[in-house]
Amino acid sequence: MNSASLSVPKMEDMRHILPDSPQVFRPHSSHCCSFTARACPEGHGPPFHQQNANFTEKGAPVQQYLAQDIQFLPGVGPKRAQLLKQELGIACIEDLLNHYPFRYVDRSRMYKINELRPDMPYIQVQGKIEGYLMAGQGRGKRLTAVLSDETGRLQLVWFKGAKWIPEQFPAGKEVVVFGRPSVFRQRINLVHPEMDDPGKRKAEGAKLQAVYSTTEKLKDQYFSSKAISKLMAYVIRNLPSKFEESLPAWLLRSLKLVTLDTAIRHIHFPNSIAEYKAAELRLKFEELFYIQLHILKGKSDRNKHYRGNVFKVVGNCFNAFYQQHLPFELTAAQKRVIREIRQDMKAGIQMNRLLQGDVGSGKTLVALLSMLIAADNGFQSCLMAPTEILAQQHFRSICHFLAKMDIRVELLTGSVKKKDRIPIHEGLENGDVQILIGTHAVIEDTVKFRQLGLVVIDEQHRFGVAQRARLWGKADVLPHVLVMTATPIPRTLAMTLYGDLDVSVIDELPPGRKAIVTRHTFDSKRLEVFGFLKKQLDTGRQAYIVYPLIHESEAMDYKDLEDGLESISRAFPPPQYQIAVLHGKMKPEEKEASMQHFLAGRCQIMVATTVIEVGVDVPNASIMIIESAERFGLSQLHQLRGRVGRGSEQSYCILMSGYKLSEEGRSRLNTMVRTNDGFEIAEADLKLRGPGDIEGTQQSGVPFNLKIAHLGRDSQILQLARNTAESILDEDPLLELDKNFIFRKHIKKGNPQRIDWGSIS
Ligand code: ADP
Ligand code: MG
Repeated sequence: MNSASLSVPKMEDMRHILPDSPQVFRPHSSHCCSFTARACPEGHGPPFHQQNANFTEKGAPVQQYLAQDIQFLPGVGPKRAQLLKQELGIACIEDLLNHYPFRYVDRSRMYKINELRPDMPYIQVQGKIEGYLMAGQGRGKRLTAVLSDETGRLQLVWFKGAKWIPEQFPAGKEVVVFGRPSVFRQRINLVHPEMDDPGKRKAEGAKLQAVYSTTEKLKDQYFSSKAISKLMAYVIRNLPSKFEESLPAWLLRSLKLVTLDTAIRHIHFPNSIAEYKAAELRLKFEELFYIQLHILKGKSDRNKHYRGNVFKVVGNCFNAFYQQHLPFELTAAQKRVIREIRQDMKAGIQMNRLLQGDVGSGKTLVALLSMLIAADNGFQSCLMAPTEILAQQHFRSICHFLAKMDIRVELLTGSVKKKDRIPIHEGLENGDVQILIGTHAVIEDTVKFRQLGLVVIDEQHRFGVAQRARLWGKADVLPHVLVMTATPIPRTLAMTLYGDLDVSVIDELPPGRKAIVTRHTFDSKRLEVFGFLKKQLDTGRQAYIVYPLIHESEAMDYKDLEDGLESISRAFPPPQYQIAVLHGKMKPEEKEASMQHFLAGRCQIMVATTVIEVGVDVPNASIMIIESAERFGLSQLHQLRGRVGRGSEQSYCILMSGYKLSEEGRSRLNTMVRTNDGFEIAEADLKLRGPGDIEGTQQSGVPFNLKIAHLGRDSQILQLARNTAESILDEDPLLELDKNFIFRKHIKKGNPQRIDWGSIS
């Protein structure tokens, strides 16, 4: 994952980036931010393309044209213009051109009914309407029709808004219908197909046809996808000149990318699949490339400006611990990561490293060893955890590790009493305290360090940007920063989200761990699940039973937990069984007591909400039952499951759900059953939800409203973009060369949308 070892792929390698299926077109989002200098009226901030040298020249005819208000286009007018702006963020011609199609339908081929398969994309069929029928009741009420050709009969279905269809396409009439085949009662049908006159079809020519997203309100104003397409055609036909290019010619040549002008025309009106693919590649590349160029340029500038503390030696603290007190051998991955950290900390630049490692991979130990190196060099360290429970747990395990060593470790959390804080504060100020562990409390203004050299942030996604910024102010020279996360972030996302951090990965679990067995079961099987649980508990194991708590405040969620608790208590009565409870409404000391109870083995079952999600470590707990598992996100499920499988016993994770599952919900549960690999799960999550919904991205400052690229699906293009940006900056770090003029312009304008991670984390 070390980016330094990557080189720019050769052109031959580009081919596999192109979508391979000739018929399936990947949807992508389209947003209003655009490729000229005009700030978007929707407040999405200036776009990446904006700094394009020629584009921004005021008075260029194409520029003026693009800035024109859409209300003056034929058939728009002020009222509909307002609606377009409100619904799709389209205010000017340029916004319209940036409203990229989200898919295409292949109108170049007519299918026969007996050729249709359920997995086909949008297809067209010509046939005769045999008749219409209203069927069903209430919400299931629908209009159906039978379409026939010489090979068979096909059902068409509309659930609403179809009154006009029988009038416009009466029974007996030849029509062309368009839609995606789906299956109902084992037969193929088309739901809400588009209908057309065969004659009209021919006149329009048989091509790939762009489909644009639109809204109900817009459709009411006759802005269907087709109407948008017409408007698009008008706008492109009337362009006063070509689009000005936003990438240098040498780069287009070397990557064999089409020009911006070609790309914009072909993305809307491709004559062939190849044209569409080439246009899409060019636009995606550009979008991702400029993000990477910004990030990497920022990183290289920062390294020039800021020096880091130099941790020259590895001394007594580290060596004594490593040689005498380490209870087990480090995994190869742990060793590698410590080497990487060590390199950073002695290099004279400030470390900004993201440490990714699946739950249980042993990140805490890596953090500890890094802190010992800091201590060896006379620096203090601080380890921040997102919750009190976690901070206490870190404190316990680090004190345990360091029991035989003379190192002062302190814990500072919200619940540490005022009078107990005083000696800690003093110890930090005079340098006595070498390692501080805590929660947000450590970044309160009263906490001052003598010489803070290393900051470790555990489970970083729970820490807000502002909080990190405050920590930042605590040292004269910027401390080294190690950000640890157990939520594996897909490579593509990490490259963008943490593009200016270096990334280390612990991709290996300590030896002797057995893979967790995961099963999905329906609620109706609860008795069997309890039976299984009983057997496990009777062999001395402990179990978690987790309830979803989507909104901490909602009483309903607690009701789930309380009801559950009642039935569990009935099935597992005292005194034989003891049950602990843990949820967010409890006071910190109650939570702690509950945790201690469970940790000490005084109770067998812990009934909890997601409070336990992060980091809790009880090796004897080997069963995890997750109630209403369909309500959890994938990464959350994976985090929860990581609470078991920490000891040497076989562990189990049982996902309970109702019978009614959305497709996405089912897919999440299946993914969990299929794999234990956090990275695979993260990739699946990214594909299912898109980057905007992945935890941590909202506060990242990275503009995820990408216009065309998709971080989950375009990883290869992203890699190419990153490699290209890297090699450009390697050759020309300040972007001074003439051939890089366009980039320089681009960077100069900056990107106000992005937060400079380097200076806050
Ligand atoms: P993470 O924070 O990455 O989820 P932890 O640091 O909590 O994982 O480690 C999980 C458990 O594995 C802890 O009990 C820890 O002591 C143990 N552990 C860490 N490294 C090793 C190793 N190399 N060999 C055996 N056990 C290890
Ligand atoms: Mg941890």
